[in-house]
Parts: sequence; structure tokens; C-alpha cells
Amino acid sequence: MPLLAERMSRAKPSAIMVVAEKAKQLKAAGKDIISFSIGVPNFLPGEHVYAAAREALAHDSGQYGSNRGSEALLDAFLKHLQDGGFNGYERKNLVVGIGAKQVLYNLAEALLNPGDEIVFPTPYWTSYADIADIVGAKTTLLPCPPEQDYKLKPEQLAKALASKPKVFLFNNPSNPTGMVYSKAEIAALAEVLAAHPDTWIICDDIYNRLVFDGVGYHNFLHVRPELRERTIVVDSISKTYGMPGWRVGLIAAPEKVAQALVTLNSNHITNLPEVVTAAAVAALSGPQDLPARKAIEFAAKRDRVLAALSAIPGVNCPRPQGAFYVFPDISVAFGKKHGSTVIGNDVDLCNALLEAKGVACVPGSAFGEPRALRISYTCPDAQLDEGMRRIKEFFAELS
Ligand code: PLP
Repeated sequence: MPLLAERMSRAKPSAIMVVAEKAKQLKAAGKDIISFSIGVPNFLPGEHVYAAAREALAHDSGQYGSNRGSEALLDAFLKHLQDGGFNGYERKNLVVGIGAKQVLYNLAEALLNPGDEIVFPTPYWTSYADIADIVGAKTTLLPCPPEQDYKLKPEQLAKALASKPKVFLFNNPSNPTGMVYSKAEIAALAEVLAAHPDTWIICDDIYNRLVFDGVGYHNFLHVRPELRERTIVVDSISKTYGMPGWRVGLIAAPEKVAQALVTLNSNHITNLPEVVTAAAVAALSGPQDLPARKAIEFAAKRDRVLAALSAIPGVNCPRPQGAFYVFPDISVAFGKKHGSTVIGNDVDLCNALLEAKGVACVPGSAFGEPRALRISYTCPDAQLDEGMRRIKEFFAELS
């Protein structure tokens, strides 16, 4: 049989999808499963989004559309950027894609030659490492352990940028940790970035409307607008508008980068469907109270999870202030046993937890931090409390 391309030896299925699939199968087999695995917002967009989609369907042209994105969508994104404190962009700086995931993949193709260096902090969103591997980039990880609240320090960044990596990739608010950088922290990192002009900066800010406790959302461009000439801001309607399945990702970038992605789109996807475009325009330009309300709800859910975790001896968890994840350090369990099962690492723990208690979490090693696990907490409160009760029970049964 002919061989697959060499790059496929480096391509792995998303570890998050693997856990989610296993939980789904156990549920289908009749097991009582609570899934904290996949990062879905668990709410639907407002009726105005569906009305716009129906309207678009009624007037569907059935034709190919713009490789960059429709003018209406680009204008809605421009307005959204302005509302988020990003100024100075024009349509020529923008381009859309099939979700932030595809946009990030296109960015990797557009910016990284095989062997080029990309740096990003750990814990990181799983697909960063996988995408970098597929395009043959050399990944340098910047460890940000729980002891430093999973946050990157300016001196770490300065050291990493000294080798002039091609790309620095930064995610704020963070998946998997839920941590959010303060304005002062962003300003300190931006100062380092300003001193290293040879590196592209990708800001994956797709959780930017889901920030709690009044910390606010800050981007390097808010404090150092001059970084715009080498910064790419990635956004998406998936998490903030409850529309992950609609698959709309957006970027604001220097014109040259945006144009490169338009070229890739012209070969990869051609365009977003008209109905999807209309729904995205409605989400971005309609009433903005939904993400704000959800942020309040998620903050309360975060508190429920943290309260439950704090009652488990030895489990530590930096306090997240955004997105909908917590990422506790569960390494206290390593070397112990649950029944006859030895818990050697995070994967053993997640497997044992799923088998014994029917609770699905994602092992931290999927995000480059094997001392932790990720809990995605968007499910209804009753389910959330029951899942946390089972986790607590599991830890109490360790010997
Ligand atoms: N970036 C981060 C940090 C994410 O958590 C996710 C999805 O989980 C994505 C990008 C991809 O989002 P999209 O649904 O827009 O492809």
C-alpha cells in the first residue's frame, strides 16, 4: 500500500476529543456519566441569530462568496474590535475562517517554515502543539506551573525571545487554566515584546468576553498599539456567543498576513456559507448582553467548583477569572491507589475517575501540565455539584 505523507506521523487526534468520545460511548452504553471534558459553552445564542439565519436561507444566492469574508461580516467584526478597544483596523486587515482552530492552522502555514521556532506558555491549548507539529515547526514551551498561577513572567518571555523565534503564541483568557492576565501583567509582557521586533505575536483571545471579578480583558495592543504591525488577534463566535458548531473564526492582522490567509482560504475553503455568515453578523452586532450574563453565571459556577476542590486535602487550584475551566493540581494522588488501581499519573487518574465514578475530565498532560486535570464547568449546577461530589469521594477513597 502507498504511504501516507510523513507529516501524518506527527499528527495526533485531539486528546480532548478522545476523552469526550469515550465519555459519550460510556453514556450510550447506559452508564451514568457526567462530562466535564469538552469545552462547550452550553448555551444557545439569542433568537435574533436564528432569525437572521432563517432570513439568509430565504434569500440564499447559492453562490460562492468572498475568500476574505462578506463585507457585512467584516464590518460587524470591525465594530466588535472597536468595542473591544482595538482601533486602526480596516477591512484589508481582517479575514474569517472555519472557527479559530482553522484560522490558527492557516496562520501556522502562513508564518512557519519547517524547522522555524514557535514559543508558547504551558499549560497550552492542546491543538497549538499539534498544529505546530503538523507544519514541522520547532516548539519551545515556556513552563508556567501552578506555583506561578500558570502565568508567563516577563523574564521568561525575554529569555525565550532572545533566540528570535518566528512566532510567540499567547492565549488570554486561558484554556485550560481559566487564568486572566491583569493590565499590569500584560503591560510588562508587552514591554518585552516591543524590545524583540523579529517575532510575530499571535494573541488567541477567543474567551475575551468571558472575564470575571472586574479584572477586565487586556491585550498587548491596548497598551502598545505599535505592536500592531506584527500582532495577529484571533477571535471566534464559538465560546462567547454559544455558537461552537457554527464554525466562525476571525482575525485582525497586518495586511500582509490577512492577505496570506485570504490566499489560503481561496485554496482551502473558498468561503463561509451565507447562512452561517448572517448568523455570525447577528451575533456580533446584535444585543451584547448574552456574554456578559454568561460571564456572571460562569463566575458563580467557578466558585462552586473551587469550593468543592478546596475541601479535598492536597489539591491546589489557582483561582481562574475567565473562560469556563479550572485546572487543579491533583498530583497529591500520584503513587496512591483507588481500589486495586494504581494512580501513577494524570491519565491513570482520569481513567480511574471515569471508570469508578463516571466523571470525565481531561488529563493535564493533554495541555502540557501532567500534574493537573481540566474541569470544564458549563453544565447545569445540579450536575456540576454531583460531579464534584463524586470527585471528592474518589479522592477520599485513595489509599
Ligand atoms: N483557541 C482556544 C484557546 C480554544 O479553547 C479553542 C476551542 O476550544 C479554539 C481556539 C478553537 O475555537 P473554534 O471553535 O473557534 O475553532
